[in-house]
Amino acid sequence: MVIYNTLTKKKEEFKPLNPPHVGMYVCGPTVYDYFHIGNARSFVMGDIIRRYLIYKGYDVKYVMNLTDIDDKIIKKANEEGVPASEIAERYTKAFFEDIEKLKVKKADVYPKATEHIQEIQDLIKKLEEKGIAYDVNGEVFYDVLKFDEYGKLSGKKIDELESGARIEINDLKKNPLDFSLWKKAKPDEPKWESPWGEGRPGWHVECSAMSMKHLGETFDIHAGGHDLIFPHHENEIAQSEGATGKEFVKYWIHFGFLNFKNEKMSKSLGNFFTTRDILKTHSAEAIRLFFGQTHYASPLSFSDELLSNTEKAVSKIKNFLKTIEENLQKANEEGEYPEFDIRKYYQKFEQAMDDDFNTPQAIAVVFDLIRDVNKILSSQKSFGVKFYNDVKTFLDKTAEGVLGILPDLKQEKGSEDLSGKLLQILVDVRLKAKQKKDFELADEIRDRLKELDFILLDSKDGTKVRKE
Ligand code: AMP
Ligand code: ZN
Repeated sequence: MVIYNTLTKKKEEFKPLNPPHVGMYVCGPTVYDYFHIGNARSFVMGDIIRRYLIYKGYDVKYVMNLTDIDDKIIKKANEEGVPASEIAERYTKAFFEDIEKLKVKKADVYPKATEHIQEIQDLIKKLEEKGIAYDVNGEVFYDVLKFDEYGKLSGKKIDELESGARIEINDLKKNPLDFSLWKKAKPDEPKWESPWGEGRPGWHVECSAMSMKHLGETFDIHAGGHDLIFPHHENEIAQSEGATGKEFVKYWIHFGFLNFKNEKMSKSLGNFFTTRDILKTHSAEAIRLFFGQTHYASPLSFSDELLSNTEKAVSKIKNFLKTIEENLQKANEEGEYPEFDIRKYYQKFEQAMDDDFNTPQAIAVVFDLIRDVNKILSSQKSFGVKFYNDVKTFLDKTAEGVLGILPDLKQEKGSEDLSGKLLQILVDVRLKAKQKKDFELADEIRDRLKELDFILLDSKDGTKVRKE
């Protein structure tokens, strides 16, 4: 199996440090709002990689941090006049609800920054003792010139970075690239005692301290969105390797951006859809299939229309699964086995996934199987139990076990799935009515949905549905 490693900029054979164990850390959310469908791409692709490693027989310890103290959380708390911890708790709960709906498997550990203050301080102390960190009246910074390899992940030299990067200018720093390890407390902000006075940890140091605590000083895989290569992951390497003198991470994986209208979907640009809202009208399977159809490292454009098209592909999988289940019920043990070799499909699926998690290719193998089996079924012959079982097991292990795109037939009559689709039909019909200037009908649809607590919000980018 090969993985493209951002650090070496090439595909490398995957050799875990301590097989069959694999340690994997993925940077998680800052819990100050519902996460958007761009964040969801990183969470889902991380989940698929983890599921495939498990499929291959590895014993994966999967860690995802929750940034529960940060400027954005404090800002929101001040706006609402509530403690920062209340904001963090509210959106942590929402995060867990939403990833569960997305069929993202739970991590083994979700370390929170506020519960690792001691480990964070210990790491900063170590850096200070080594002369790599310096304290300026209670603000502690990392001295990047003391770490020779600074820039090795992003592939940039310090002087290029100094002139090019959008870095915070701060008179207290020796070098503009130096970054905060410990922030001095400002009035009305959450704070902790420390050897440098009251304050709170910087963002980068949190991930170094928590990943090493839960996975060891050197571990196998560290992943996150492309935006994290610099400065976040560059700084994590500087902190961890600066402190331990050991290699921090073997394989660095970065997920491409989910874009909307040619721009990275982000909170700050305002061009985002929350995953929570998207899940009201689309299935988790369609969202996961939509992500999986593009390689994890490439950019991907989002639109509601593209997602709706993917929903059709999910229906195809569902109908196929139903056919297989029905045939299985009628089949008997002695029935014939057609000319068909299931091993070929496993091989092709693994070949695709072994090549840097090529999910588009792996998905194509699933659809090849559906096409080939449908051809066999069209002969109207009935086959033995083993044939249908082989097909079903393949789908369970690959389409569901790894990709998470197999719809649950038991839930078919589930109201949520159906009502989401009906809602989307009404939204589409209303749009047509508006285009034909039939505002009376458009308003009636909106008002009647409002009676059911569905609020339609129109914008130039389309209609969003919010459940009150
Ligand atoms: P944040 O809560 O902003 O720290 O982001 C959580 C995760 O989502 C990080 O791994 C980010 O790199 C990732 N992320 C943020 N925006 C996008 C996007 N538009 N496409 C893909 N991943 C993203
Ligand atoms: Zn991180």
